[in-house]
Amino acid sequence: MSIKENLLQIKSQLPNHVTLVAVSKTKPVADLMEAYNAGQRVFGENKIQEMTDKWEEMPKDIQWHMIGHVQTNKVKFMAEYVSLIHGVDSLKLLQEINKQAQKHNRVIDCLLQIYIAEEESKFGLDENELDEILKQVQNDNSDLTNIRIVGLMGMATFTDNQSQIKKEFDNLKNIFDKINADAISKDAISKDAINRVSILSMGMSGDYKLAIECGSTMVRIGSSIFGNRTYQI
Ligand SMILES: *Cc1c(COP(=O)(O)O)cnc(C)c1O
Repeated sequence: MSIKENLLQIKSQLPNHVTLVAVSKTKPVADLMEAYNAGQRVFGENKIQEMTDKWEEMPKDIQWHMIGHVQTNKVKFMAEYVSLIHGVDSLKLLQEINKQAQKHNRVIDCLLQIYIAEEESKFGLDENELDEILKQVQNDNSDLTNIRIVGLMGMATFTDNQSQIKKEFDNLKNIFDKINADAISKDAISKDAINRVSILSMGMSGDYKLAIECGSTMVRIGSSIFGNRTYQI
């Protein structure tokens, strides 16, 4: 099947409230343009340099999502244009994103990455670290005015065990619901409605259907659209 056919087939299976991020890492611009010409406007990359090269070359109505682990010293290369950063996992990184966003007079949307897998190699915050960061960001005196936390992101363990993946997705959904419930009770006091988060980024080619059943609002799909990658990152 062609990229266009893959894309349209996946899109036809997604509920309206679920956003498709086409994960185009390692793929050439010609492949991305095929998806673009089929109507896709949201692309995900995991290397800042590669994403920036593609941003320079491609139409300007594309929303670029950084889905990989972000090194603090590279934030400056994407601050001008990135539309959503999925993998924020420290206050230090958030401060750097804020600083670089300020230089471009922008507010950059961010997701906090939560550690849900049983794999050492995956990045992310635990619940205590999440609470700590939310406290800093939601503090009325916070100087983090050029970032906005709009949701959470997580990656399940790489396994065929569906019940384990479901358990991990359910866990992330529970955390998501809990911080929204906390925000609503705070809003009732402060009349400040900005603390609620709306995006739950979970699900990839192998597990996106399960992720949607578990409450995902944003799926990151690469190989099922563009075919297998020649090297895995
Ligand atoms: C590569 C990648 C994906 C997409 O993986 P596929 O299995 O090809 O769909 C999703 N999320 C992240 C964070 C990735 O690095």
